[in-house]
Amino acid sequence: MKTDVLVIGGGPGGHVAAIKAVEYGASAIVVEKYKLGGTCLHQGCIPTKTLLHTTDVYYELQHAAAIGLKVDNASVDIEALQRRKNEIINTITEGVNAIVSSKGVEVVYGTAELVSEKQASVVLNNGETILIDFDKLILATGSIPSSIPITGANLPNVITSDDALSLSQVPEALVVIGGGVIGVEFGQLMSRLGAKVSIIEACDNILPHMDAELSSQLAAELVEEGIDIYTSARVAQIEQSSGQLNVGFDIAGELKSIKAEKVLMAVGRKPLVHGFGLEHTRVQIENGAIAVNRYMQTNVPHIYAIGDCTGGYMLAHVAFKHAMIAAKNITGDILEPFNDLAVPACVYTSPEFATVGLTESAASKRFSHIKIGKADLAVNAKTMIVQQRGTVKFVVDTTTNRVLGLHILGPRASDMIHEAALALNLNATIDDIVDTIHGHPTIAEGILEAAEDVFGNAIYKM
Ligand code: FAD
Repeated sequence: MKTDVLVIGGGPGGHVAAIKAVEYGASAIVVEKYKLGGTCLHQGCIPTKTLLHTTDVYYELQHAAAIGLKVDNASVDIEALQRRKNEIINTITEGVNAIVSSKGVEVVYGTAELVSEKQASVVLNNGETILIDFDKLILATGSIPSSIPITGANLPNVITSDDALSLSQVPEALVVIGGGVIGVEFGQLMSRLGAKVSIIEACDNILPHMDAELSSQLAAELVEEGIDIYTSARVAQIEQSSGQLNVGFDIAGELKSIKAEKVLMAVGRKPLVHGFGLEHTRVQIENGAIAVNRYMQTNVPHIYAIGDCTGGYMLAHVAFKHAMIAAKNITGDILEPFNDLAVPACVYTSPEFATVGLTESAASKRFSHIKIGKADLAVNAKTMIVQQRGTVKFVVDTTTNRVLGLHILGPRASDMIHEAALALNLNATIDDIVDTIHGHPTIAEGILEAAEDVFGNAIYKM
């Protein structure tokens, strides 16, 4: 086979890059060893959010009396829950397959290995091997779960997020190692399904890359729901004793241990850079990821890399954006850079936590005059109606009044964050937000209130 652009990996990065390359006039082949959609569709965004939706509804049913409903005997049907998750994945997979072929992209199912900088061999899923010659290459191989080098990390009941997604039984007790996005989402999910959950995090806060004040508020919510959170704590070992796991960890110099049926290793993911013949090219790896410039180009001019395999954000929408940029640059003039000024990041806990731009602490290191505007969502009418709480927090550069960041803990935060993503992209000022009429009653009025608060003009604040 021969193609203008070969794409290795059919996740949100790879299949979008191939579609766009064809739109720009090139021929494109995607090689995928499993199914189109990648981690996002099969082990990531979609299955986790499907399960979280069910557990959120279940939680609300258990607390229905607070909103004037009498609901007796709500219970979980794990089989039905898994069936629904699989149906959603299958429906989306069929949709992606149909779109990709309708756009003229050729999909080859098999495992690709680069033989040279212009040729790949593919072991097809039927065992046959084929060769593909290409002019240009986009690497979109994704990432795999990381682990930590401690005794017991390989015990059978120490699981990854991939395993946790298909559990057929809720463990009585679950220890989650790592309080990042995957750790807290699974922590709340399992807790709401009935597991006794303990999260152990090495940093001094869960979600350490997000706004510290709002992370602490979310931690307090999770603790109130019955999750134990240990921060500044380092897991030292996991032992198997009489059918249970014993997780030993160090917290402030004291050794503690927790018993659990399962341990979820949620210490992040690492770029997949091995196993596909990268060593047969001159492509450089830096800090465990494929090194690229702002144009998504590696040090070998006709080879690009996108998404998780390049490290950094490791988010589906970033892979998607990388894909559009790489496809444009690889098929034409190399003009379009990746701009990371406004990358939203969302945590789908309840309440949701979403962030875009700089946190207060990052902004204070880069700008000499910043101001913070905050709104307490507990006094926002719509938040009260939906029986939740939270905070909206703006970070503003007072020299220019430009919005530097927005951080939201509250219902629908993952939808609302895009107002600030647009503001950042357009270099908008906080006055632009204040001048924008926000509907009533909406949770988004909290954004207006936080914007007003930057200069002390919040209306519903004593
Ligand atoms: P991937 O989606 O990993 O796709 C890579 C593809 O390459 C895979 O299909 C793989 O089979 C294929 N491949 C690899 N090597 C070869 C080879 N040699 N030959 C052929 N095929 C190969 N991100 C969000 O934005 N929002 C979320 O809510 C979110 N939730 C997540 C929850 C979990 C539990 C996890 C694990 C991740 C989550 N992510 C989320 C991250 C998101 O899934 C990834 O950032 C995204 O999938 C990266 O896309 P990609 O195209 O770079 O790689």
